[in-house]
Amino acid sequence: MTFRLFDAPLREPSQFVGFAGNTIDRQSETRADDSVEQALADAATRLLLMHGGRLYLKLDADNFDPWFAAPESQPFKVALDQGVLLGFSDAGPVLAVPAGIEPEELPETVKAIDYRSVYMQGLIDEAAAGALAQGAALLAWHASHAFCSKCGHRSEMRAGGYRRHCPACGTDHFPRTDPVAIMLTVTADKCLLGRGRHFGPGMYSALAGFIEPGETIEAAVRRETLEEAGIRLGRVVYHASQPWPFPYSLMIGCFGEPLNDDIQADLNELEDCRWFSRDEVRLMLDRTHADGLITPPKGAIAHHLIRAWVDSE
Ligand SMILES: [Zn+2]
Repeated sequence: MTFRLFDAPLREPSQFVGFAGNTIDRQSETRADDSVEQALADAATRLLLMHGGRLYLKLDADNFDPWFAAPESQPFKVALDQGVLLGFSDAGPVLAVPAGIEPEELPETVKAIDYRSVYMQGLIDEAAAGALAQGAALLAWHASHAFCSKCGHRSEMRAGGYRRHCPACGTDHFPRTDPVAIMLTVTADKCLLGRGRHFGPGMYSALAGFIEPGETIEAAVRRETLEEAGIRLGRVVYHASQPWPFPYSLMIGCFGEPLNDDIQADLNELEDCRWFSRDEVRLMLDRTHADGLITPPKGAIAHHLIRAWVDSE
């Protein structure tokens, strides 16, 4: 039997994770400073409205619709001048805009739902979830980067929201994406899963941690696995990535090959960390484990890493 996980994948696994279905044409090379104004002058423009980590959704029968026309958005105290242009769909321009009213002030027909629930419960289609990840990350960056980090002067939004310019010192600032390594340590027979202190009941997942400055993805995977589990890794291969708008990360999923068996879990970070057999993990994926142990839900990249290993030969 050949163990094939470390061969190049035959398909692109990133297509199958949550928040990955963005179909917006970003047209990044043509973003003008007035592109948000131009988009707002187009009656076909559709808006995603966000406030305090929540997306506003119109409730129509049992369907949730995240798309608002500009005139329709007025009652929600939207800050159109702080909107960002995500790009263009087949229907027209797409913006993400900060809204101002609290969930309890909303009419019956509109709900404000936190991003995690929107994605976990599959309330919107994959293309809209991809747009949500893009818009949420950009709005969060603007909200926390209003002032120039070089001279302290208030900076201004430019290029449809893809740049901030400081009028005092002339510095340009660009939206950031924070890379996080998430890794599943595997052999043909077993994989390493940990249980974070904040996890829900029975949940075990892949280990993860921020990639630090000056570090390769592979080095971060090896360092985090050694720090959290006391397991040294040999080969490391990339598997898939996932936009993760909490607030603006990119999860980079990898497999690692262990060089030792004896786990020494960092109990400050983890409540438990142990080896699981393929049969046991299959029960966790199917939600039929006798002790109620489970893996993360389908949209999570950890789920896809675990599933890819279980399904591998
Ligand atoms: Zn400045």
